[in-house]
Amino acid sequence: MSGLMLHNGDVFAGYSILKELGRGGMATVCLAEDLKHHRHVAMKLLKPELASSLEADRFLHEIRITATLTHPNILPLYDSGHEEGRLYFTMPYVDGGSLREHLDREPRLPVEEALRLVREVADALAYAHERGVVHRDIKPENILLEEQHPVIADFGMAHALAYIRGEFATGAGIALGTPAYMSPEQASGESTVDHRADQYALACVLYEMLAGHPPFVGGGARAVLARHVVDAPPPLVTVRPGLPRHVRAAVTRALAKSPEDRFPSVREFSDALVAPQNGTARGPSVAVLPFANLSGNAEDSYFGDGMAEELIMALTRIEGLHVASRTSAFTFRDSQLDIRAIGEALGVAAILEGGVRREGSKVRVTAKLVGTADGFHLWSGSFDRDRKDVFAIHEDIAANIARALRVVLRESATRVAPTANPDAYDCYLRGRQFFHQRRRKKMLFARQMFERAIELDPGFALAHAGIADASSFLAQHYHDEATADNLRRADEASRQALELDPELPEAHAARGFALSLLDRFSDAEAEFRQAMAMDSGQFEARYSYARACFQRGELEQALTLFEEASNAREDHEALYFAAQTLSALGRQGEALAASRAALPVIERHLQLNPDDARAMTMAGVTCSRLGERSRALEWGRRAAAVDQEDAGVCYNLACLMALEGEREAALKHLQCAFRVGFAHRDWIEHDPDLDVLRDDPRFRALIRGT
Ligand code: ADP
Ligand code: MG
Repeated sequence: MSGLMLHNGDVFAGYSILKELGRGGMATVCLAEDLKHHRHVAMKLLKPELASSLEADRFLHEIRITATLTHPNILPLYDSGHEEGRLYFTMPYVDGGSLREHLDREPRLPVEEALRLVREVADALAYAHERGVVHRDIKPENILLEEQHPVIADFGMAHALAYIRGEFATGAGIALGTPAYMSPEQASGESTVDHRADQYALACVLYEMLAGHPPFVGGGARAVLARHVVDAPPPLVTVRPGLPRHVRAAVTRALAKSPEDRFPSVREFSDALVAPQNGTARGPSVAVLPFANLSGNAEDSYFGDGMAEELIMALTRIEGLHVASRTSAFTFRDSQLDIRAIGEALGVAAILEGGVRREGSKVRVTAKLVGTADGFHLWSGSFDRDRKDVFAIHEDIAANIARALRVVLRESATRVAPTANPDAYDCYLRGRQFFHQRRRKKMLFARQMFERAIELDPGFALAHAGIADASSFLAQHYHDEATADNLRRADEASRQALELDPELPEAHAARGFALSLLDRFSDAEAEFRQAMAMDSGQFEARYSYARACFQRGELEQALTLFEEASNAREDHEALYFAAQTLSALGRQGEALAASRAALPVIERHLQLNPDDARAMTMAGVTCSRLGERSRALEWGRRAAAVDQEDAGVCYNLACLMALEGEREAALKHLQCAFRVGFAHRDWIEHDPDLDVLRDDPRFRALIRGT
């Protein structure tokens, strides 16, 4: 038997075994290096003793069927085979651990988080079920966490292992499925097990996330199985008081003993977990949250509340606009819930939030309107007034905001539906959310969501534009073996989007972005201008165009565009680059003011995305530009601790160190940036942050690429 054991450092089937990641009943999972593709993978090795009782070919056949499932929340299959008497397959290595490990650390999750995870898993299961594939072993061990998103592992395993049912299974007492999550029909050995078994198991997982333990525990496997068949689960109301009623009701139904009594599909289970108001977002509708008091002066709170109340009254006067009542909206004061959740709870399509800051005799009111379906900024504005006009201020600003909203809300309500398929639209919106986080993994995730949207509606032009944008972003930021492929996809998808809908500003913006990377700058420029002319609030065109101009040294033009982009949508990167461009133009006073304006926006972004290392480096560089050395270095340290594999992070760390006069550290980070694929040698030419390095021969060598 020892000849079949693998040790760290062994090479097996073209993979070098690095370390063991975990062990289940049937297999061991190792971290391994794929020697052909130079990447880390997770390799699952079935126990050697299984091979003899397994029909290897059938096993591999079943496993490979799941390779046809393409969904961002389903772990794909890379490779599979039979070698030296062992069956194995490989898949991406997921470094966030499993939901099991997460629950070991935190047995009861916040309701929001539990529901979000379950809804993402449900989406993936629904996708598989629609293709006739049932998982049959849903449990926290098989839900891995990739940047807080669940990814289902072991699709197809249960099926593939069905072929060992014969003598081995009965002889060794191996049961398929896992007792704590096993549906009554599986527990009692029925032959007709369908997708509703997955729904039941998922409900057990949700129950556990909420209660701290699965519905049935204790007394050994046999007892647990029996209880699935006969016992009612302990009511959630006792194990997790305060849970919304519709959540309890949905879990109870999904845990029904008889499959017919459950939801007809896992998607319906997932929908039932959303507050009942959801989906009733009635055309143009808005809620106004109490304005935050940014003065740090407790007695100013009344001012923010007054502002919101005034605004609610002004908005109520707009015909056709539904405004959530003050009482319900104000329950979300200082809420940690994200905008989507608040929007769902209030049944509104948009949320207006803002802040009030008093400085001496002046008052500054900022406000922004955010779409609840996707978290996009629809509009933002800020108003400076003299404090002595205190009574006039409320009314005046409320009127201004109301006027702006009237336009925005009407536009967003009358825009023609971009697809007739609501699931496709949902995928698209989710994709755009990931897209806006502008990080490699998120971007890959975004692209998968867009691909899924197209699968559901091949004529969905916006989703093609999304694929183009994501591919362009990847090509722009990460120079590696995939660059050519990303460029090709950006080219094709943007052309496709335009063919499908030449009237779509997003399609022109995407085409412009792709062309700018294909070194067809004047064609790109024409597309950007077209997009901008079609939609005065189009962010992507302005932002991508601005970056292309900066890179070419057209700094004045870049500045205008970064500023226009910032006006179209509050965006920390656009503001950050506006400050950088001003600095490159030698307009240091304005650059300082712009940095000062950018910092709170970056910080706000970080509150919502606390692990965004790139934003941390931007906060660091901005502090540095403002002369706040210790804060700057602290952001740098935090960013470096989170992520040193991202080219943008390394590059910004280099800028930060250069600004702080730390030449050696700056050069080290710059080298690192190139090593992990930093792709903008010409950007560096115009980046004022690196000026202290310019006379260093090592710097010049780096730019030349030697
Ligand atoms: P089980 O799912 O029953 O725990 P497995 O053999 O499927 O047994 O997996 C063992 C463990 O290996 C899992 O619990 C999980 O923590 C880990 N694991 C599995 N696949 C991966 C992967 N792709 N990336 C990282 N860890 C993994
Ligand atoms: Mg597993």
